[in-house]
Amino acid sequence: MLNQVYAKSRCIIIKNIDFRDADKLVTVFSERDGKFRAIAKGVKKPNSSLRASVQPFANAFLFFSPSKELGLITQGRVLDFYGNIRDDINLSLNAIYIMELLDKSLLDNVPIPRLYNHTLEILALINEKEVEFNPLIIRYYEMNLLKELGYRPVLDYCIKCRVPNNSLVAISVSEGGAVCSNCIKQTTYNYKLSGESLAILKLLTNAPINTILRVKPSNTAKSQVELVLEKYLEYHLERKFKVKDTIKKLKEKLQVSN
Ligand SMILES: [Zn+2]
Repeated sequence: MLNQVYAKSRCIIIKNIDFRDADKLVTVFSERDGKFRAIAKGVKKPNSSLRASVQPFANAFLFFSPSKELGLITQGRVLDFYGNIRDDINLSLNAIYIMELLDKSLLDNVPIPRLYNHTLEILALINEKEVEFNPLIIRYYEMNLLKELGYRPVLDYCIKCRVPNNSLVAISVSEGGAVCSNCIKQTTYNYKLSGESLAILKLLTNAPINTILRVKPSNTAKSQVELVLEKYLEYHLERKFKVKDTIKKLKEKLQVSN
């Protein structure tokens, strides 16, 4: 809920759910006030001007006014609708997964404008039609989210004995970083990492996205990096991510039909 009497902000729509007869309860990630919920009145009526502005993963300029419980969305103007993403089931699921990450990781009313802008960059990148979708975009987003929330993994030395690079064999999700072959027995929630996977994880923490998109990882590295980030997010955010399972199932289906 916004503190200000009449407020306006650019907002990414995290989700909307049916609420009363013609209304929707909308969760937004606003540039100015972070995550909060507000009611879009009458939005289910066919002629509602708010309809497009409150679609999941749209970016919209929204106006709010206070009401007894939650704020009301009074007006909206779509800034980015990401039409190419909406035309493609795989891209849509990836965008919804990003919204799920935001929904489950952000605290209410804590603004993180840098993450807001980063999310827009990533959505724009997924929306680019000319370029084939690269799942490393999502890995990059996951790593940036971890960094923003203060869970950047230690990858330059063993988190236990501090021995650098060459002997690092896994990542301990509970310790928050890479572990060497000697220390792995003492740590829990370990996930195996090849040298290639470790290098990719490091790139995800500090390289620009254009550099990352030039990497051609092996299938082993792809799945190790994906698994590590998934376990990392689950452990530190104490949440399971449902959309991820749907993406996996869709991928399996597409592979079977090929
Ligand atoms: Zn060690």
